[in-house]
Amino acid sequence: MSEAQEKETTETSGKIPFVDYLILDNPPYLQAQECLSCGARYFDRRNACASCFEDQFRSVAIDQEGIVTSFSIVQMGPIPYVSAVVDCGGTSVKCTIMNVEPSPEHVTLGMQVKLMTYSMGEDSEGTEAIAFGFEPI
Ligand SMILES: [Zn+2]
Repeated sequence: MSEAQEKETTETSGKIPFVDYLILDNPPYLQAQECLSCGARYFDRRNACASCFEDQFRSVAIDQEGIVTSFSIVQMGPIPYVSAVVDCGGTSVKCTIMNVEPSPEHVTLGMQVKLMTYSMGEDSEGTEAIAFGFEPI
């Protein structure tokens, strides 16, 4: 990768992640807080671990690929979508499965998926909100 390209990809002003744990790097990834004592992982900020009550955490990058361990097809509004839990190397991620037909014929347990991001639109200043989902590999 050339220096010019690198500069461009690390330039993230104008884009903000929709959730704190989505890191808009190149490539983007999800970041969890891992308990130093027991290894439990959380995507939201915690003052103490729910498993062991210790309060020391470190940031860890979550695998970008995983498998669907549960899903439901949500029929709300005009367009149904797939709400799922994806196991990314042992960490469960709640997400939406994108770029797939929302039907039991197309979404299966154990299906391999990978992280993807998409724009949720821009505000009046042109700042783009970026959300994440997973899509079939
Ligand atoms: Zn813990």
